[in-house]
Amino acid sequence: MNKEVKHLISKYFDEDHLPQAYVALFDEISQLLEARTTPTHPSTPMANADLQAVYQRLRDSLNVFGSSQDMDERGADLSSLILLAKRVKKECANKIIRQQKQLREMKHLKTIQTLASAGSWELPVTDDELCQPGYWSEELFAVLGAEPGTLAPTAGAFRKNYVHPDDRQYLSTAVDKAIKETGRYDIEYRIYRGGDPKQKRTVREIGELVRDEATGRGLRLIGVTFDITDIRNTERALFKANVEMRKLFDVMEDVFFSVSMERYEQEILQMSPSCVQLYGYSVEEFFKDPDLWFTVIYDDDKEAVLENNKRLSRGESSQVVYRIRRKNGELRWVESRITPTLSHEGKLVRIDGIVTDITKRREAELALANSELKFRSLLENSNDAITVASEELKFLFVTQSLSRMIGYTVDEIIGTSVFDLIHPDDHATVNSLVHAMEKDPDAPVHFELRFRVKDGGWIWCEGSVVNHLNGDIVKGYIGNFRDVTYKIRYRKALEASNNRLKKTNNELDRFVYSVSHDLRAPLASVLGLLEYTMSETEDEDVLQDLGMMKGSIEKLDRFILDILDYSRNARLEIKVNTVDFQHLLADIRDNLKFMHAGKSALRFDVNIQENGAFGSDERRISILLNNLVSNAMRYADPEKPDPFVEVTIVSGAGGADITVRDNGIGIPAEYHEKIFDMFFRVSEKSNGSGLGLYLVKETIDKLKGRISLQSVPGEGTTFSIFLPSLL
Ligand code: ADP
Repeated sequence: MNKEVKHLISKYFDEDHLPQAYVALFDEISQLLEARTTPTHPSTPMANADLQAVYQRLRDSLNVFGSSQDMDERGADLSSLILLAKRVKKECANKIIRQQKQLREMKHLKTIQTLASAGSWELPVTDDELCQPGYWSEELFAVLGAEPGTLAPTAGAFRKNYVHPDDRQYLSTAVDKAIKETGRYDIEYRIYRGGDPKQKRTVREIGELVRDEATGRGLRLIGVTFDITDIRNTERALFKANVEMRKLFDVMEDVFFSVSMERYEQEILQMSPSCVQLYGYSVEEFFKDPDLWFTVIYDDDKEAVLENNKRLSRGESSQVVYRIRRKNGELRWVESRITPTLSHEGKLVRIDGIVTDITKRREAELALANSELKFRSLLENSNDAITVASEELKFLFVTQSLSRMIGYTVDEIIGTSVFDLIHPDDHATVNSLVHAMEKDPDAPVHFELRFRVKDGGWIWCEGSVVNHLNGDIVKGYIGNFRDVTYKIRYRKALEASNNRLKKTNNELDRFVYSVSHDLRAPLASVLGLLEYTMSETEDEDVLQDLGMMKGSIEKLDRFILDILDYSRNARLEIKVNTVDFQHLLADIRDNLKFMHAGKSALRFDVNIQENGAFGSDERRISILLNNLVSNAMRYADPEKPDPFVEVTIVSGAGGADITVRDNGIGIPAEYHEKIFDMFFRVSEKSNGSGLGLYLVKETIDKLKGRISLQSVPGEGTTFSIFLPSLL
């Protein structure tokens, strides 16, 4: 073995890095070199033919690598062989690197195509190019929705099967133009995915013409086709949203703005046109003067705004209410809400905000606060107490006036139970109030309750309470009451004396009744005796005296009868029946005949019209009619040739209208008011008791009716009565 050769071989050929085929080649080289090396001639060159053979193999190898550049033809000596081998090795390594790079790029391309829904293709440019098959990448098949290998990749098949019929002409025009003139096209058109018209997709295609370098003639078209349907849809949606946003931006009353804070000076990026309405300044004016937003702030509010905006540099949103002065000098209340954007380093780079005109709201708030203040002062200065109690009957709110009433401070009252401040005897009343309020929450319920006074004792309060548990503003039982201790004490005293009076009156009535009743029996006996004595004598004088005695006793009896009637009217309950006026008037007529015996004739006209059942106390009506009729008779005018009394009655379910008219002596106007007074008589000559009309009035009052009178002296008198039906 030629040491030198071996050394060179091992030095220049690192077998580990060479492909298998070339390892064998270098084995051969070393064998040949060894064979030619003998111990006796260590440096004998190899046989020329062998060297030539090795040399040729190495040159072939270079051809394999595609690197058949001119070789040094100096000869096949050892050193040129080694040089050649060195070169083979280098080419070999380069080839491997190139192959690996190509492989990597292929993989990349494939991944990119898949990710981008993009397919690549290559088609020949010939006269019948539509039929000539070219190359379609797997991804192009995927974009078209076809299985690779299911159809020949020709331009004709592509257009016929997949391109939207309306876009076919457009595509071929673009391709023709690229081939003939421009060398390139970039268009969008529609395809039917999988050939299915229902699966419409949009693709973008870029094609490039590859020319023959020598002739400049187009050889083939290569290109990419990618599905942009989703992108286009998103773009369209985005565009729509943008248009809508813009519209909103333009029509909103609020002012939107974005300001870049990156530069040394603030720069307004955008501002909505509504700034004209709010500030009176146009968008352009704001753009021109970046400080305008601050200039317009009302001087007193500037500091507060600056203070608040410090939050922005800390990345916190700011919300602040302040006044601005419009271009025309008018003041407006605004509320601004600003959101900051900070950079990675924490520097404020941008702010976005909205300014809203809140003048109306603010004025309303101020007016409300003002009216609240007024209202409060009214409440506090009122003598009435106003309280709000919870559902559990604990005081939630009380006015100062309650404190003034009962001596506890407002703080002492708030939170205590209503029952703690109300007299134990009135707790049941409180419970019934709550019950009533639950039944009808909107209706105020009246009350009289005793409240505890801090110094001891109780005060009476009167007022009302309403259930506002479900109210919008005040939730609770709202009470409104005042101290009526004096009033109640006075009323209680009045009630007590009234009761006493009633009792005395009752006793008096009973006394009068029994006395009158007891007096009539001896009078009847005296009358009986008188009549007997009169029948026994014929002495004119005696008879005259006895007649006068009889008259006086009869008068006394009538008087007692009147008193009894009065007493009955006062004492007895009303007994309601259907009144039979016909029957009643017949009785009166009989009575009248009896009364009238021996006197000049009095015409008694009765006119009754009964239109339905009328109910009242018949006995009392009889008393009052008897009185009126007997008065008409008693006060008849002796001068008149045709004295009469006329009773007219129109009755029904609604009531009865009764008139008693006579053509008697009449009553002078000045007495009309007094006529119904007890014991009143127009003239001393009247032989009545003066009780009759008083009794009539009392009876009518009892029957809830009314009476009026018309009378002209010398002409006559008419009494008009209305009695309601009591049925
Ligand atoms: P007396 O018992 O006196 O009749 P009344 O109370 O019935 O008492 O009447 C009061 C007075 O009214 C009578 O005294 C009489 O002067 C007058 N008076 C009552 N009715 C009539 C009448 N129909 N015509 C004229 N005067 C009358």
